[in-house]
Amino acid sequence: MSLLKIARMGHPVLRRVAEAAAPGPDIRKIADDMVETMLDAPGVGLAAPQVHLPIRLIVFRVPAADDQPERIVQLLNPVIEATSPEIQPGWEGCLSIPELRGIVPRYNHIVWRGSTPEGAPVESAASGYAARIVQHELDHLDGILYIDRMHDLRLLAYQEHQDDVERDFL
Ligand code: ZN
Repeated sequence: MSLLKIARMGHPVLRRVAEAAAPGPDIRKIADDMVETMLDAPGVGLAAPQVHLPIRLIVFRVPAADDQPERIVQLLNPVIEATSPEIQPGWEGCLSIPELRGIVPRYNHIVWRGSTPEGAPVESAASGYAARIVQHELDHLDGILYIDRMHDLRLLAYQEHQDDVERDFL
């Protein structure tokens, strides 16, 4: 496995719509390298365009919950569907936008579907922070960054000022 170079905001690959990809050994290798890169960064999710590959592949951590340990998902050609109209604001960061954090509205309950790198279909429900991570990574496949989803750029801050923003603007 090897660490991949992460594209930063402004690189055109982050603004392209990524292409669907066929499962197979090449995708398995890329997905494993993406997990290694995500864990090294460290981050909670990574999309293939962030490592300069315009294909519809994401990896993300599913936080521990309800006695389930944390797990890592590698998802090819993902789709998501909101299962409730409820929208929740919450903090996000992005490995392609270092040091900054922003408060972004996201659906609170979703289901996600896709396949493993080998092509086996997978599906799961997610809520709260886990749902937020998946929505953020899926946006990367459509050339969308979290700042595009923000309604108020006063809610964008360097990490050390998150408390100040919460105090003054929430
Ligand atoms: Zn990101």
